[in-house]
Amino acid sequence: MERKILPVEGMMCAGCANTVEKKLKNTQGVSLARVNYATQKATIEFDSEKTSLKKIKKSVEDAGYGLVIDYMTGEEIEEKKKKQYEKLKRNFYVSLLFSIPVFVISMFHISFPYSNYIQGVLTTICLFILGGEFYSRAYKQLKNKSANMDTLVVISTSVACIYSWSAIAFKRQWEEANVEPQIYFETSVVIISFIFLGKLLEEKAKGNTSQAIKKLMGLKPKSALVKNEDKWAEKPLEEVVKGDIILVKSGQKIAVDGVVIQGESYVDESMITGEPMAVKKRKGDRVFSGTINQRGSFQMSAEKLAEQTLLASIIKAVEEAQTSKAPIQRLVDKISSVFVPVVIAIAFITFGCWISLAENSLLQALQSFVNVIVIACPCALGLATPTAIMVGVGKGAENGILIKDAQSLEIASKVDVVVMDKTGTITQGKPQIVEHSFENQCDINVLISIENCSQHPIAKAVVENWSEWENFNIEYFENIVGYGVRGNYLGQDYRVGSLEWLKDCQMGEQEKKLVEKWSGNATLIAMAKGEKIVGVAAVTDPVKENSKKAIEQLKNSGIEVYMITGDGEKNSEKIAQKVGINLYRWEVKPSEKQDFIKSLQEKGKKIAMVGDGINDSQALAQADLSIAMGKGSDIAMDVAQITLMGSDLTKIKKAISLSKITLKTLKENLFWAFIYNVIGIPIAAGVLYPKFGFLLNPMIASLAMVFSSVSVVTNSLRSAKKNI
Ligand code: ADP
Ligand code: MG
Repeated sequence: MERKILPVEGMMCAGCANTVEKKLKNTQGVSLARVNYATQKATIEFDSEKTSLKKIKKSVEDAGYGLVIDYMTGEEIEEKKKKQYEKLKRNFYVSLLFSIPVFVISMFHISFPYSNYIQGVLTTICLFILGGEFYSRAYKQLKNKSANMDTLVVISTSVACIYSWSAIAFKRQWEEANVEPQIYFETSVVIISFIFLGKLLEEKAKGNTSQAIKKLMGLKPKSALVKNEDKWAEKPLEEVVKGDIILVKSGQKIAVDGVVIQGESYVDESMITGEPMAVKKRKGDRVFSGTINQRGSFQMSAEKLAEQTLLASIIKAVEEAQTSKAPIQRLVDKISSVFVPVVIAIAFITFGCWISLAENSLLQALQSFVNVIVIACPCALGLATPTAIMVGVGKGAENGILIKDAQSLEIASKVDVVVMDKTGTITQGKPQIVEHSFENQCDINVLISIENCSQHPIAKAVVENWSEWENFNIEYFENIVGYGVRGNYLGQDYRVGSLEWLKDCQMGEQEKKLVEKWSGNATLIAMAKGEKIVGVAAVTDPVKENSKKAIEQLKNSGIEVYMITGDGEKNSEKIAQKVGINLYRWEVKPSEKQDFIKSLQEKGKKIAMVGDGINDSQALAQADLSIAMGKGSDIAMDVAQITLMGSDLTKIKKAISLSKITLKTLKENLFWAFIYNVIGIPIAAGVLYPKFGFLLNPMIASLAMVFSSVSVVTNSLRSAKKNI
């Protein structure tokens, strides 16, 4: 199975996106297809043994569209987009050039020899030159027995044009039949102009909705100073290889992900974490591509390059999320796929009614027919949800909140309980041993050798506490999740873990004293050699600076906050008090964490679980919304629906309010998209005429259409400026 996100060309409206999506889904070997009109991209999952990208491209082309399958860099894509935008702009100006004379002549009834013919010729040329693409696409649609916005454009403009030519050609016959031979060429050209104008405004606004990702892409530097036989040489980024030693001067962007090997500095990582404070880096610390070295210079060794860097994976995740579809979009897609045929049917009914009800009304009938078709273009409908999602996801990324897909964004707005893990979520997750009773060097060696096999934060604290030790060969190692670790050395069984787990073992006086002293202020662990405790250690893990504030924010907005932890009662209580949590559970095993969430769900609550994503994967999977704390390189984006970059817990509240804002924008957009059609179509059909004598001018109808898409996109853009 392969998964690709590829640009689609030639899509004019939501209907087009539907057509391409349907075509892709019906292509052999394609298991998943999602086409996003706003990003003009398709997400395709296919079986590379059954089909190839070439075949998929061919099938998209059969439907009348293009699929770009050659790899393009971000810059090439931008370049291409720019060219298309320029072309659109040119088309608009050319159409304006044709429209103005035709419009002026007809509006002011300027009459001179052949004025009718001149209007006709200008209009026809304009339709042929600029309208060509609409015709060819509409034709392909017809061949596929479907219709889209191109169809609507072609029908409306040609009907007006052909009608007017007939009025000129058969002037006498019409007059004899008592039909006034009026011409209205201006309708055709002006509609074409407005369509280009609408597209132009739409493209411009859409460009702004993807600002966030452009910013991220712009962070990649182009070269790096690489050590080459004791000299520093500028090397293009593509030539940097793993293991290269890179010099990063102050003020420079870091080129690749790696580890500091010499020197010290402060690095601005706000582009990744959204947190403004520069982060101190010294030997052994990880640094990331795209972040900026603020002062001092340092040397680093290159570890992750190109597509492997954290920045690249963030860009990919954001892009994927922006092209994902909100659940509500499915309904919208259904509506817009039947929309065009329904509109054409309504237009014909309107025409029929006018002809049969009123006398001498061919012109009015035609005008209403054109009106209905023009006003009903479903462009706005196609932009409503995707632009809102793009802005929401992008804004999240700017604030260090990575959202997996549109669905996650939607769920976040409904959360009413937040369950937090203690270690690494509320606390810093960098525990340290504050006191211990180990004296025998052999025991210490065993302890460290066993803990060396474990990934637990406490294990790290143990390993880092002693500078001198010998690594023993542990014959058997087992991780008892939620309790500790177990190992075998020279045939002797050792256990390291919580006091609760080792409560049946004998403990000496000295150990008991230490336990008493630290009980409630630290996590206590012990090592048992067989059934005898050989040492205890008190481990503290300070609470994060912002935890209290973050929890207060959540509670203030009416959200219940729970803490669950595998740690003992006293220490848990202490920490809960410190951060203002009164609902907490201690000594909870990982599987019980899941059960706990299940029990809350049974009460009808929507639960968000916040954890480190490694230890708590079951609980994260059970929750309605999973939020993972992304710690540097090993972000668990696959597990969690939302990943918070950096350590700041106030992002939880931010994510929830971002979700609420986005959902509100999305609903407003849908309202605006529909209201134009719901009110517009009857007026266009002429329901106001019998009573008020008001018949919509088709040019005004096309302007209304432009307004509806523009108002939808600007509404999305406005949401980008709101505070979260
Ligand atoms: P939390 O829910 O706080 O993340 P865990 O479920 O990971 O806690 O662990 C619960 C308890 O088990 C810890 O407080 C500690 O006492 C003990 N423990 C777990 N793993 C280890 C280890 N590698 N070394 C020592 N103690 C451990
Ligand atoms: Mg944990």
